[in-house]
Amino acid sequence: MPRVIFHVDMDAFFASIEQRDHPEYLGKPVIVGSPPDRRGVVCAASYEAREFKVRSAMPSRTAGRLCPHGIFVRPRMEVYRAESQEIMKILRAVTPKVERVSVDEAYLEVADLPDTADTDTALQAALPVAREIKRRIREERHLTASVGIASNKFLAKLGSDFNKPNGLTLILEKDKVAFLRPLSVRSIHGVGPVTAQSLTDRGLHTIADIQDTEMDLTPMVGSWAETLKRRAMGIDERPVDLSEDRKSISAENTFLNDTDDRPTLRAALKELAADVAQTLEKHALAALTVQVKVRYSDFSTLTRQVRLTDPVSNTADVYRLACHLLARHQLVTQPLRLIGIGVSTLVPPVREQLLLSI
Ligand SMILES: [Mg+2]
Repeated sequence: MPRVIFHVDMDAFFASIEQRDHPEYLGKPVIVGSPPDRRGVVCAASYEAREFKVRSAMPSRTAGRLCPHGIFVRPRMEVYRAESQEIMKILRAVTPKVERVSVDEAYLEVADLPDTADTDTALQAALPVAREIKRRIREERHLTASVGIASNKFLAKLGSDFNKPNGLTLILEKDKVAFLRPLSVRSIHGVGPVTAQSLTDRGLHTIADIQDTEMDLTPMVGSWAETLKRRAMGIDERPVDLSEDRKSISAENTFLNDTDDRPTLRAALKELAADVAQTLEKHALAALTVQVKVRYSDFSTLTRQVRLTDPVSNTADVYRLACHLLARHQLVTQPLRLIGIGVSTLVPPVREQLLLSI
Protein backbone atom coordinates (compact mmCIF):
# COMPACT_ATOMS: atom_id res chain seq x y z
CA MET A 1 0.00 0.00 0.00
CA PRO A 2 1.54 3.34 -1.01
CA ARG A 3 1.98 6.04 1.60
CA VAL A 4 -0.38 9.03 1.62
CA ILE A 5 0.81 11.91 3.79
CA PHE A 6 -1.07 15.13 4.62
CA HIS A 7 0.53 18.23 6.04
CA VAL A 8 -2.14 20.34 7.71
CA ASP A 9 -1.11 23.91 8.56
CA MET A 10 -3.47 26.44 10.10
CA ASP A 11 -3.54 29.82 8.34
CA ALA A 12 -2.09 32.69 10.43
CA PHE A 13 -3.25 30.69 13.44
CA PHE A 14 -2.97 33.15 16.35
CA ALA A 15 -4.12 36.13 14.30
CA SER A 16 -7.06 34.19 12.81
CA ILE A 17 -8.22 33.17 16.29
CA GLU A 18 -8.17 36.84 17.34
CA GLN A 19 -10.17 37.79 14.25
CA ARG A 20 -12.67 35.02 14.90
CA ASP A 21 -13.12 36.02 18.54
CA HIS A 22 -13.26 39.75 17.76
CA PRO A 23 -15.33 40.16 14.58
CA GLU A 24 -14.48 43.88 14.56
CA TYR A 25 -10.91 42.81 13.59
CA LEU A 26 -12.08 40.95 10.47
CA GLY A 27 -10.46 42.27 7.31
CA LYS A 28 -8.07 44.40 9.37
CA PRO A 29 -4.33 44.11 9.93
CA VAL A 30 -4.04 42.24 13.25
CA ILE A 31 -0.63 41.88 14.83
CA VAL A 32 -0.28 39.50 17.78
CA GLY A 33 2.65 40.39 20.03
CA SER A 34 4.11 43.27 22.01
CA PRO A 35 2.67 46.75 21.51
CA PRO A 36 4.64 48.85 18.99
CA ASP A 37 5.92 51.24 21.66
CA ARG A 38 7.48 48.41 23.67
CA ARG A 39 10.48 46.23 23.21
CA GLY A 40 9.39 42.82 21.98
CA VAL A 41 8.43 40.99 18.84
CA VAL A 42 5.53 40.02 16.61
CA CYS A 43 4.24 36.48 17.29
CA ALA A 44 1.85 36.37 14.36
CA ALA A 45 0.33 38.65 11.75
CA SER A 46 -2.98 38.42 9.89
CA TYR A 47 -2.85 38.28 6.11
CA GLU A 48 -3.96 41.91 6.01
CA ALA A 49 -0.94 42.84 8.15
CA ARG A 50 1.36 40.73 5.97
CA GLU A 51 0.46 42.99 3.06
CA PHE A 52 2.35 45.69 4.96
CA LYS A 53 5.33 43.29 5.14
CA VAL A 54 4.75 42.57 8.82
CA ARG A 55 6.23 39.18 9.71
CA SER A 56 6.48 37.05 12.83
CA ALA A 57 9.65 37.46 14.92
CA MET A 58 10.00 41.04 13.65
CA PRO A 59 10.45 43.69 16.37
CA SER A 60 7.06 45.22 17.22
CA ARG A 61 8.51 48.70 16.72
CA THR A 62 9.31 47.85 13.10
CA ALA A 63 5.84 46.38 12.64
CA GLY A 64 4.32 49.58 14.03
CA ARG A 65 6.29 51.63 11.56
CA LEU A 66 5.37 49.44 8.56
CA CYS A 67 1.72 49.21 9.56
CA PRO A 68 0.76 52.29 11.60
CA HIS A 69 -2.94 51.36 11.69
CA GLY A 70 -2.24 47.78 12.75
CA ILE A 71 -4.31 46.40 15.62
CA PHE A 72 -1.79 45.14 18.17
CA VAL A 73 -3.12 42.33 20.35
CA ARG A 74 -1.47 40.64 23.33
CA PRO A 75 -1.05 36.89 22.74
CA ARG A 76 -3.48 34.59 24.57
CA MET A 77 -1.39 31.43 24.58
CA GLU A 78 -3.80 29.39 26.67
CA VAL A 79 -6.58 30.09 24.15
CA TYR A 80 -4.33 29.09 21.22
CA ARG A 81 -3.27 25.91 22.99
CA ALA A 82 -6.88 24.94 23.71
CA GLU A 83 -7.78 25.63 20.08
CA SER A 84 -4.87 23.48 18.98
CA GLN A 85 -6.26 20.56 20.98
CA GLU A 86 -9.62 20.93 19.22
CA ILE A 87 -7.96 20.94 15.80
CA MET A 88 -5.90 17.85 16.69
CA LYS A 89 -9.12 16.08 17.74
CA ILE A 90 -10.54 16.67 14.28
CA LEU A 91 -7.35 15.30 12.72
CA ARG A 92 -7.27 12.24 14.99
CA ALA A 93 -10.81 11.44 13.94
CA VAL A 94 -9.42 10.90 10.44
CA THR A 95 -6.44 8.77 11.36
CA PRO A 96 -4.64 7.76 14.55
CA LYS A 97 -1.35 8.46 12.79
CA VAL A 98 -1.00 12.15 13.61
CA GLU A 99 2.36 13.78 14.27
CA ARG A 100 1.79 17.15 15.87
CA VAL A 101 4.72 19.29 14.78
CA SER A 102 3.69 22.45 16.55
CA VAL A 103 0.66 24.21 17.94
CA ASP A 104 -0.75 24.73 14.44
CA GLU A 105 0.61 22.04 12.16
CA ALA A 106 0.63 18.27 11.88
CA TYR A 107 1.50 15.42 9.57
CA LEU A 108 -1.06 12.69 9.01
CA GLU A 109 -0.61 9.31 7.46
CA VAL A 110 -3.92 8.48 5.87
CA ALA A 111 -5.10 4.90 5.55
CA ASP A 112 -8.49 3.40 4.69
CA LEU A 113 -8.11 4.38 1.07
CA PRO A 114 -9.20 2.13 -1.79
CA ASP A 115 -6.82 -0.77 -2.12
CA THR A 116 -4.35 0.09 -4.84
CA ALA A 117 -0.69 -0.41 -5.58
CA ASP A 118 -0.47 2.85 -7.50
CA THR A 119 0.61 5.84 -5.44
CA ASP A 120 -1.06 8.44 -7.64
CA THR A 121 -4.38 6.61 -7.50
CA ALA A 122 -4.15 6.54 -3.70
CA LEU A 123 -3.23 10.23 -3.57
CA GLN A 124 -6.21 11.14 -5.76
CA ALA A 125 -8.49 9.06 -3.57
CA ALA A 126 -7.33 11.05 -0.53
CA LEU A 127 -8.57 14.39 -1.91
CA PRO A 128 -12.09 14.11 -0.45
CA VAL A 129 -10.57 13.23 2.95
CA ALA A 130 -8.55 16.47 2.90
CA ARG A 131 -11.63 18.46 1.84
CA GLU A 132 -13.53 16.97 4.76
CA ILE A 133 -10.80 18.01 7.22
CA LYS A 134 -10.89 21.56 5.87
CA ARG A 135 -14.69 21.63 6.02
CA ARG A 136 -14.80 20.47 9.65
CA ILE A 137 -12.15 23.00 10.73
CA ARG A 138 -14.07 25.75 8.97
CA GLU A 139 -17.53 24.82 10.21
CA GLU A 140 -16.68 23.67 13.73
CA ARG A 141 -13.78 25.98 14.60
CA HIS A 142 -14.43 28.91 12.23
CA LEU A 143 -10.81 28.83 11.10
CA THR A 144 -9.07 27.83 7.90
CA ALA A 145 -6.25 25.41 7.23
CA SER A 146 -4.07 24.70 4.22
CA VAL A 147 -3.41 21.09 3.34
CA GLY A 148 -0.70 19.46 1.24
CA ILE A 149 -1.14 15.89 0.00
CA ALA A 150 1.81 13.86 -1.27
CA SER A 151 3.68 10.59 -0.90
CA ASN A 152 6.01 11.95 1.79
CA LYS A 153 6.44 14.60 4.48
CA PHE A 154 8.81 16.84 2.54
CA LEU A 155 6.44 17.21 -0.41
CA ALA A 156 3.29 17.41 1.74
CA LYS A 157 4.76 20.37 3.63
CA LEU A 158 5.70 22.15 0.43
CA GLY A 159 2.15 21.47 -0.74
CA SER A 160 0.46 23.05 2.28
CA ASP A 161 2.65 26.10 1.84
CA PHE A 162 2.05 26.39 -1.90
CA ASN A 163 -1.35 28.00 -1.98
CA LYS A 164 -1.93 29.66 1.38
CA PRO A 165 -4.36 30.62 2.87
CA ASN A 166 -7.16 28.06 2.66
CA GLY A 167 -5.17 26.04 0.12
CA LEU A 168 -5.33 22.43 -0.94
CA THR A 169 -2.45 21.14 -3.04
CA LEU A 170 -2.00 17.61 -4.30
CA ILE A 171 1.44 16.70 -5.58
CA LEU A 172 1.34 13.54 -7.64
CA GLU A 173 4.38 11.30 -7.95
CA LYS A 174 4.44 11.80 -11.68
CA ASP A 175 4.58 15.59 -11.23
CA LYS A 176 6.86 15.93 -8.23
CA VAL A 177 10.20 16.45 -9.98
CA ALA A 178 8.70 19.16 -12.18
CA PHE A 179 6.89 20.75 -9.21
CA LEU A 180 10.19 21.07 -7.37
CA ARG A 181 12.28 22.50 -10.22
CA PRO A 182 11.44 26.23 -9.95
CA LEU A 183 11.61 26.36 -6.14
CA SER A 184 14.53 28.00 -4.38
CA VAL A 185 17.04 25.78 -2.56
CA ARG A 186 15.79 27.46 0.62
CA SER A 187 12.51 25.56 0.22
CA ILE A 188 14.32 22.39 1.26
CA HIS A 189 13.85 21.96 4.98
CA GLY A 190 17.29 22.04 6.57
CA VAL A 191 18.80 24.46 4.07
CA GLY A 192 19.30 27.55 6.20
CA PRO A 193 20.79 30.88 5.12
CA VAL A 194 24.40 29.67 5.50
CA THR A 195 23.95 26.48 3.47
CA ALA A 196 21.91 28.36 0.89
CA GLN A 197 24.72 30.88 0.52
CA SER A 198 27.35 28.21 -0.08
CA LEU A 199 25.08 26.59 -2.68
CA THR A 200 24.31 29.84 -4.49
CA ASP A 201 28.02 30.74 -4.42
CA ARG A 202 28.48 27.75 -6.69
CA GLY A 203 25.60 28.67 -8.95
CA LEU A 204 23.00 26.39 -7.36
CA HIS A 205 19.94 28.60 -6.85
CA THR A 206 16.93 26.41 -7.53
CA ILE A 207 16.04 22.81 -6.83
CA ALA A 208 16.41 22.23 -10.58
CA ASP A 209 20.07 23.21 -10.22
CA ILE A 210 20.50 20.56 -7.51
CA GLN A 211 18.63 17.96 -9.58
CA ASP A 212 20.82 18.59 -12.62
CA THR A 213 24.26 19.16 -11.13
CA GLU A 214 27.02 16.61 -11.47
CA MET A 215 28.95 18.42 -8.74
CA ASP A 216 29.82 16.70 -5.47
CA LEU A 217 27.84 18.64 -2.87
CA THR A 218 29.90 17.37 0.07
CA PRO A 219 32.19 20.43 0.27
CA MET A 220 29.07 22.61 0.64
CA VAL A 221 26.82 20.56 2.89
CA GLY A 222 29.03 17.79 4.30
CA SER A 223 27.45 14.44 5.10
CA TRP A 224 24.05 15.85 4.22
CA ALA A 225 24.89 15.85 0.49
CA GLU A 226 23.11 12.64 -0.36
CA THR A 227 19.95 13.57 1.53
CA LEU A 228 19.88 16.94 -0.20
CA LYS A 229 20.11 15.27 -3.59
CA ARG A 230 17.27 12.91 -2.67
CA ARG A 231 15.05 15.74 -1.41
CA ALA A 232 15.65 17.58 -4.67
CA MET A 233 14.24 14.52 -6.45
CA GLY A 234 11.23 14.50 -4.12
CA ILE A 235 12.35 11.49 -2.10
CA ASP A 236 11.86 11.43 1.67
CA GLU A 237 11.46 8.27 3.72
CA ARG A 238 11.02 9.86 7.14
CA PRO A 239 8.10 8.19 8.89
CA VAL A 240 5.24 10.06 10.49
CA ASP A 241 6.64 10.19 14.01
CA LEU A 242 4.07 8.79 16.42
CA SER A 243 3.91 9.44 20.11
CA GLU A 244 5.34 6.04 21.02
CA ASP A 245 8.68 7.12 19.58
CA ARG A 246 8.93 10.19 21.75
CA LYS A 247 12.26 10.67 23.51
CA SER A 248 11.45 13.93 25.23
CA ILE A 249 8.69 16.46 25.75
CA SER A 250 9.23 20.13 26.35
CA ALA A 251 7.51 23.47 26.51
CA GLU A 252 8.93 26.94 26.74
CA ASN A 253 7.77 30.50 27.00
CA THR A 254 9.43 33.67 25.76
CA PHE A 255 8.44 36.71 27.80
CA LEU A 256 7.30 39.87 26.07
CA ASN A 257 9.62 41.71 28.46
CA ASP A 258 12.56 40.09 30.24
CA THR A 259 11.61 39.44 33.83
CA ASP A 260 12.90 38.20 37.18
CA ASP A 261 9.58 38.82 38.90
CA ARG A 262 9.00 35.69 41.01
CA PRO A 263 5.17 35.52 40.71
CA THR A 264 5.43 35.94 36.92
CA LEU A 265 8.05 33.20 36.69
CA ARG A 266 6.07 30.88 38.94
CA ALA A 267 2.92 31.41 36.88
CA ALA A 268 4.84 30.71 33.67
CA LEU A 269 6.43 27.57 35.15
CA LYS A 270 3.08 26.30 36.33
CA GLU A 271 1.61 26.70 32.87
CA LEU A 272 4.58 24.97 31.25
CA ALA A 273 4.44 22.13 33.80
CA ALA A 274 0.75 21.69 33.01
CA ASP A 275 1.54 21.61 29.31
CA VAL A 276 4.25 18.98 29.72
CA ALA A 277 2.15 16.90 32.13
CA GLN A 278 -0.78 16.99 29.71
CA THR A 279 1.42 15.70 26.89
CA LEU A 280 2.78 12.96 29.16
CA GLU A 281 -0.76 11.96 30.04
CA LYS A 282 -1.89 11.97 26.43
CA HIS A 283 0.87 9.55 25.55
CA ALA A 284 0.55 7.54 28.78
CA LEU A 285 4.12 8.25 29.81
CA ALA A 286 6.06 9.38 32.88
CA ALA A 287 9.53 10.89 33.11
CA LEU A 288 12.70 10.03 34.99
CA THR A 289 14.50 13.24 34.01
CA VAL A 290 13.24 16.79 34.46
CA GLN A 291 15.08 19.75 32.98
CA VAL A 292 14.75 23.51 33.15
CA LYS A 293 16.08 25.92 30.59
CA VAL A 294 16.62 29.65 31.01
CA ARG A 295 17.73 32.26 28.52
CA TYR A 296 18.98 35.66 29.63
CA SER A 297 18.75 39.06 27.92
CA ASP A 298 22.06 38.49 26.14
CA PHE A 299 20.69 35.19 24.73
CA SER A 300 23.06 33.07 26.82
CA THR A 301 21.21 29.89 27.70
CA LEU A 302 21.57 27.43 30.58
CA THR A 303 19.93 24.08 31.25
CA ARG A 304 19.97 22.08 34.47
CA GLN A 305 18.42 18.69 35.05
CA VAL A 306 17.65 16.20 37.75
CA ARG A 307 17.50 12.46 37.38
CA LEU A 308 14.84 10.77 39.52
CA THR A 309 14.42 7.29 40.94
CA ASP A 310 10.62 7.42 40.72
CA PRO A 311 9.04 8.66 37.50
CA VAL A 312 6.83 11.76 37.59
CA SER A 313 3.91 12.59 35.37
CA ASN A 314 1.62 15.14 36.99
CA THR A 315 1.70 18.94 36.89
CA ALA A 316 2.45 19.41 40.59
CA ASP A 317 5.52 17.14 40.54
CA VAL A 318 6.94 18.62 37.34
CA TYR A 319 6.36 22.14 38.67
CA ARG A 320 7.92 21.37 42.06
CA LEU A 321 11.05 19.88 40.45
CA ALA A 322 11.40 22.79 38.04
CA CYS A 323 11.23 25.27 40.95
CA HIS A 324 13.74 23.16 42.82
CA LEU A 325 16.18 23.26 39.89
CA LEU A 326 15.85 27.02 39.48
CA ALA A 327 16.52 27.60 43.19
CA ARG A 328 19.24 25.02 43.65
CA HIS A 329 21.30 26.27 40.71
CA GLN A 330 20.44 29.93 41.34
CA LEU A 331 19.42 30.45 37.74
CA VAL A 332 17.41 33.64 38.28
CA THR A 333 20.24 36.06 39.00
CA GLN A 334 19.11 38.42 36.24
CA PRO A 335 15.94 38.92 34.16
CA LEU A 336 14.95 36.03 31.91
CA ARG A 337 14.01 36.26 28.28
CA LEU A 338 12.81 32.68 28.14
CA ILE A 339 12.00 29.85 30.51
CA GLY A 340 11.37 26.23 29.61
CA ILE A 341 10.68 22.81 31.09
CA GLY A 342 11.60 19.52 29.48
CA VAL A 343 11.22 15.90 30.51
CA SER A 344 13.03 12.88 29.15
CA THR A 345 13.92 9.25 29.93
CA LEU A 346 10.27 8.46 29.33
CA VAL A 347 8.77 5.32 30.83
CA PRO A 348 5.27 3.98 31.39
CA PRO A 349 3.50 5.55 34.41
CA VAL A 350 4.06 3.89 37.80
CA ARG A 351 0.75 2.07 37.89
CA GLU A 352 1.48 0.28 34.66
CA GLN A 353 4.98 -0.62 35.81
CA LEU A 354 3.57 -2.28 38.92
CA LEU A 355 1.17 -4.27 36.81
CA LEU A 356 3.98 -5.39 34.55
CA SER A 357 6.12 -6.63 37.45
CA ILE A 358 3.34 -8.80 38.90
MG1 LIG B 1 0.48 27.97 10.27
